[in-house]
Amino acid sequence: MTDELQIMKIGGSCLSSAQSFNQIVNIINETPSSMVLVFSAFNGITDQLIETIDLACEGESRALSAKLKRIETFHEELIDGLFEDYPKAFNEMRLTLQEVIGKLIYLLEELKEFGWSPYFKDSIMSFGEKLSTAIISKFLTLNQIDHVVYHGEDLIITNDKFGDAIANLPYTQKRVERDLLPKLANNHYKKVICVEGFIGRSISGLTTTLGRGGTDYTAAVLARTLAVTGKFKSISLILWKDVAGIYSADPKYVEHAKYLDTISYAMAKELSFFGAKILHPKCISIIESFNIPVYIKKFPADEDRESSKQEDIGTLITAEECEKNIYSISIIQEAYIISVTSETFVNAPGILGEIFSKLGEEEISVNVVTQSSSEINTSFVISKSDGPEAMKILKSNPKFEEWFKIKMELVGIIAIIGKDIATSKNQTKIYHALSKVGINPIAVAQASDALNISIIISKNAIKTAANAINEAFFKSKKGEQ
Ligand code: ASP
Ligand code: MG
Repeated sequence: MTDELQIMKIGGSCLSSAQSFNQIVNIINETPSSMVLVFSAFNGITDQLIETIDLACEGESRALSAKLKRIETFHEELIDGLFEDYPKAFNEMRLTLQEVIGKLIYLLEELKEFGWSPYFKDSIMSFGEKLSTAIISKFLTLNQIDHVVYHGEDLIITNDKFGDAIANLPYTQKRVERDLLPKLANNHYKKVICVEGFIGRSISGLTTTLGRGGTDYTAAVLARTLAVTGKFKSISLILWKDVAGIYSADPKYVEHAKYLDTISYAMAKELSFFGAKILHPKCISIIESFNIPVYIKKFPADEDRESSKQEDIGTLITAEECEKNIYSISIIQEAYIISVTSETFVNAPGILGEIFSKLGEEEISVNVVTQSSSEINTSFVISKSDGPEAMKILKSNPKFEEWFKIKMELVGIIAIIGKDIATSKNQTKIYHALSKVGINPIAVAQASDALNISIIISKNAIKTAANAINEAFFKSKKGEQ
């Protein structure tokens, strides 16, 4: 048995040209150990699949046909480009594509017939990963890479929270040990396994999906369950992305974002919960007790291959506490803050608990909570998509209406994350930076063991605020950081 195992997730946005498919072959050939490759749907396909559902629900038949055609053409063009010189593979993949599009149309018809249910959404969303994995697998075969393919449903057993399912670890463990491990173990030479990311199945057999960006989570679940078997000396998780790793802030918004070589699990978790799209929020917590190192790396574009910049190694996420002066800024561009203000100045014990549990019953999660000590005003943040529903719940309850004035406002959130972020020195830095650019926080939340300070500000001020704070931490000592 090889002692080492690499679990690799390959993001859909990495695979946009025939060239990029060759890079998968290069990565496999250059990796000495056995590996499990987990694939996302191709770039933008999951979004388009979701749009087909919306169009079907709205009865927009023409727009729906056009959207389906676009999805089909996108894959057709890839198949044409990859397999034009291999008529057998070409025909097989064209047939697979037609079958998948046929199933998609069938499900959309059923959706119209029976009305929307979360089951339809997950089944339809799963087609992106099914197609990408089938196409990549065929490409690997043509490149003489011996491998085994698994459907997501056959390995990842989940609860039935459609759209954001969580792996049932004991059952998934059994599947992995029964079906996957034998293909990886007893190998005197390296093995290659391919798995559809993002997809699982509930115990009752329905297709589920693991939340947007959930291919990271599939890879993490496999890393964990394979670590539990104790059959491998070392397991690492490599997430190939279209960005080089983790920065002190999203380089799309912040001009002098600093590249971070290493961060701790704790910081990565905070970052992913606070909107950093780079890592799926459910990833780290399931692997952290196994000390599995996670690398976030840029999938090599052709011209990158020979360079050896720090960025090529990727950001390493480990159990080690990271250096003191490592900070990262995560941005949530749009969210709602709901302020609940007591009209009467009367203490109303239990009412806030009731508000939160009513929201909880509707699966609306509350992100950031701030409260004045008198309980006169409590504010909390919820995602943009949950806003209208939350207001409906609160306004329809006469008790809440009687006791409180309830207001909702669209805002932005900046979370500054780092081991010693809560020191007064660092807080001063943050507020000084904000005051220099004339931005006043609407609310601030900070836990007592804080790794994270969340500042709620006007939505339009996000970019300016993020740049100012990043500058305060990383540009003040020029040349040093
Ligand atoms: N294709 C899915 C999504 O776009 C899962 C993933 O990319 O990881 O959310
Ligand atoms: Mg995707």
